[in-house]
Amino acid sequence: MNDVMLKTPVQEIRLPDTGDRIFIKRDDLIGFSFGGNKVRIAWEFYQDMKEKDCDCLVAYGSSRSNMCRALANLCSRYEIPCYVLTAKEDVVEEGTFNSRMVEEFGAHIRFCHKDNVAEGVDELMAELKSMGYRPYYVFGDRYGMGNEEAAARAYRKVYGELLEYQEEQGIVFDRIFLASGTGMTQGGLVAGQNQYGGHADITGISVARPSGRGKSEVARFAGAGPEDVHFEDGYVCGGYGLYDKDIESVIRLMMERFGIPLDPTYTGKAFSGMLKYLKTRSHEPENVLFIHTGGTPLYFDYLNAARIGGQAADRIANSPLTGL
Ligand SMILES: *Cc1c(COP(=O)(O)O)cnc(C)c1O
Repeated sequence: MNDVMLKTPVQEIRLPDTGDRIFIKRDDLIGFSFGGNKVRIAWEFYQDMKEKDCDCLVAYGSSRSNMCRALANLCSRYEIPCYVLTAKEDVVEEGTFNSRMVEEFGAHIRFCHKDNVAEGVDELMAELKSMGYRPYYVFGDRYGMGNEEAAARAYRKVYGELLEYQEEQGIVFDRIFLASGTGMTQGGLVAGQNQYGGHADITGISVARPSGRGKSEVARFAGAGPEDVHFEDGYVCGGYGLYDKDIESVIRLMMERFGIPLDPTYTGKAFSGMLKYLKTRSHEPENVLFIHTGGTPLYFDYLNAARIGGQAADRIANSPLTGL
């Protein structure tokens, strides 16, 4: 099954002012559906669905999300019906590139209320069963619990592959940074470290959650304790999807200088947070790996928004990349 190309390169980039060596795991370059961590995770859900002998996939989330786009595209590829349950409260009028793709891929969108998701899941699953399907809910039970292992498998494997990479290259990553949201990705990496060993400090830069909830969710996916989780909530910038000029200038410069797209919700926020984190702590030069978790469609949304809303960043400003 190699039409979903999951192999991605590690690229070193040279940044001024950082004594550290910065490497990027380019998971945005996965060769399916614009890539990203959600393609890896969706792939594991799809495999799990087949193992459980189901024939219809159900997700909860917004059609604007990278998760829904990746799942809907895999379902269109394998001709599996895809249902997305969305909270009415999360519906926003204007479409995004992800929500338009989710429509293109023929996913069925159903609505529920935010405080009634469990009932919404039950009703949709019952309806699909009455239609003769064997539906698979990617997140497990009606409360979204119980399928952590499948979700975490994607980045548990990546952690293992990164160990092989380090061995081949004769290099050791001291730190691994990534944007952390639901915790599925970081949870997988932590599970990998617990399974395969290694000492890299796996640091999740929160894109929204405060560290208490963030840590416990990463731990849930990792099958570990919160004390095993390094989660930084100091770069959230006011909340999910919010960003400032520093994040904007990091996005601009990474694209201008390296041709690497970042977005303000996930990778741009995390990359900017990582640079600030490294800068504010004095330490011996280290080998630092940033996992580029994709989200390229959000880069295009960002370009549109910057044009329409006139939010284009003042050049450079206080960017941690000043001097590049
Ligand atoms: C979802 C997402 C993340 C966060 O991953 P989680 O597994 O939810 O923590 C990071 N980057 C991008 C581009 C994403 O879509």
